Amino acid sequence: MLLPKFDFHEPATVTEACQIMAEYGVKAKVIAGGTDLMVNMKKKLVSPEQLVSVSRIEELKKIDTAGNMLKIGSCFTVADIAASEQIGKKWKALCSGAKALGSPLIRNLATIGGNLGSARPAADLPPSLMVYGAKVVLKKKSGERVVAMDKFFRGPGLTEITPDEILTEIQMDAPPAYSGAGYINLGIRQAQDCNLVNVASFITLEGPGGVIKTARIVMGCVGPTHLRAPSAEKLLVGEKPTEAIFAKAGQAAAGDCSPINDFRGSAEYKKAMVGVLTKRTLGIAYKEAMGQ
Ligand SMILES: Cc1cc2nc3c(=O)[nH]c(=O)nc-3n(C[C@H](O)[C@H](O)[C@H](O)COP(=O)(O)OP(=O)(O)OC[C@H]3O[C@@H](n4cnc5c(N)ncnc54)[C@H](O)[C@@H]3O)c2cc1C
Repeated sequence: MLLPKFDFHEPATVTEACQIMAEYGVKAKVIAGGTDLMVNMKKKLVSPEQLVSVSRIEELKKIDTAGNMLKIGSCFTVADIAASEQIGKKWKALCSGAKALGSPLIRNLATIGGNLGSARPAADLPPSLMVYGAKVVLKKKSGERVVAMDKFFRGPGLTEITPDEILTEIQMDAPPAYSGAGYINLGIRQAQDCNLVNVASFITLEGPGGVIKTARIVMGCVGPTHLRAPSAEKLLVGEKPTEAIFAKAGQAAAGDCSPINDFRGSAEYKKAMVGVLTKRTLGIAYKEAMGQ
């Protein structure tokens, strides 16, 4: 399969990249690792006249953990997230998502910005980013804005990013004391396969042995975008963290989603798996919250 013709730009700064995006608008597309975009271009699903590579922009490849906050540049690779001790210390579920993504070859090229920009409902990084309450920074020639991950996805392949904007950074606060999060993905094969269902859960306890103060659950592959599980979250708050309440939350989460039947599995099976993964990720989150 041949690629359609395009002009290639390699800006060295975000300012320069924003200027190019402002000039070409809908005719341009940002390319980072290219693991998603190149496939779509070869399939002729998209044919941008101008490709703006952000992979030479050093300021987009950094992470910063100063001030009890994590800031990840959009070109930080999935392999670097998986291996990062700094991220693993407080945002372990994000590392789990990164380790689950594709193969070593893909992880070395794929970026966090590209994973969000592709807006696949089965993507591995959005669930944990959403339960950690992450925000994204979108920059353009005339300024910048910060968008909560909850409001970022609009549908399969669709995001809040406008044609003249670049996603530059992902930001999230450090979880409060007695918090934990878990992420699990389920595919038909172990690797190189689109997820069948993926779930991340986050809880904060009032203290050791205390009740659940905050709960956030995000499910993938079971709707047009990653979905929160509001009834499951509501059910958990104020309750003692037990296996029984985690199982009930799993059942509630299954009721919070509306998967479709496809060649990967039936809607009924996916709902059942949402229940199982929700219970298991809550168990992982609880262990971390208790410092285990
Ligand atoms: C064999 C294979 C296996 C895969 N397995 C998985 C998997 O298990 N889990 C998973 O989640 N994904 C998987 N993917 C999809 C893909 O690898 C990931 O989504 C990856 O994170 C995309 O990152 P990238 O840097 O390559 O993005 P690119 O392909 O460069 O870009 C993807 C999209 O995001 C936009 N974009 C990228 N960066 C920016 C930016 N800074 N600002 C604005 N827009 C931007 C692009 O314009 C494009 O629309 C797989 C892909 C392949 C080919």
